[in-house]
Amino acid sequence: MVDSLVQALLPARCLLCRGSLPVASSAGVCNACWQALPRLPDAACETCGEPTEVQPCLSCQTSPPPWRRFAAVFAYEGSARELVLLFKNGRDELARACAPYLWRRAQSFALSEKPTVTFVPMRPWRRLRRGYNQAELLATEVARLASWPQKKLLRRVASGTQKGQSRTSRHEQVARAFEPTGPSPQRVVLVDDVVTTGATAAACTRALKRSGAKEVWVLALAKALKR
Ligand SMILES: [Zn+2]
Ligand SMILES: [Zn+2]
Repeated sequence: MVDSLVQALLPARCLLCRGSLPVASSAGVCNACWQALPRLPDAACETCGEPTEVQPCLSCQTSPPPWRRFAAVFAYEGSARELVLLFKNGRDELARACAPYLWRRAQSFALSEKPTVTFVPMRPWRRLRRGYNQAELLATEVARLASWPQKKLLRRVASGTQKGQSRTSRHEQVARAFEPTGPSPQRVVLVDDVVTTGATAAACTRALKRSGAKEVWVLALAKALKR
């Protein structure tokens, strides 16, 4: 209680730069830090988000991912990585602050009909321990801004994780880690906080397609660039 009293009396500090925080700043991050977050390049592949001169990039031409299009806001590095980690570790108010960026990026999908928004599910024990799933919070906020319906369409399948497993078997595990909760709508926007290898998004997309989705668009707050 003393701590919270001290906190209340001290001037608020930006979560990223520790500079003093103007009252009008968003979710504990100062405007300068919001502006300075590393963005994905404008010339990004519409299918995987990597920088490219051609659409889709050569890698997507040779082995296209199962989803239709991909969009992300930030490059998962530097302060954007810090922001995502804060978001994962208790700062759930960041969902609302990040949602307008996601919604703006989702407009590049140029959807002609309303899709259903869903999210990459967490393992139930982890969801319980953290109290929220950051991908679910982002999905809820985007659905609200876009007036799209939102639904939980996927769940995690329990899988025994063992140390020292080969890369291939871990990859196979991810591929089998998700199953549909029921029949899927035809058009789905799948939301996640961070996309790294794309293996999780691919596994989720395949599970959605098994249950009736015809087209899936992947929307992420941040993407780890391969470079
Ligand atoms: Zn700042
Ligand atoms: Zn690509």
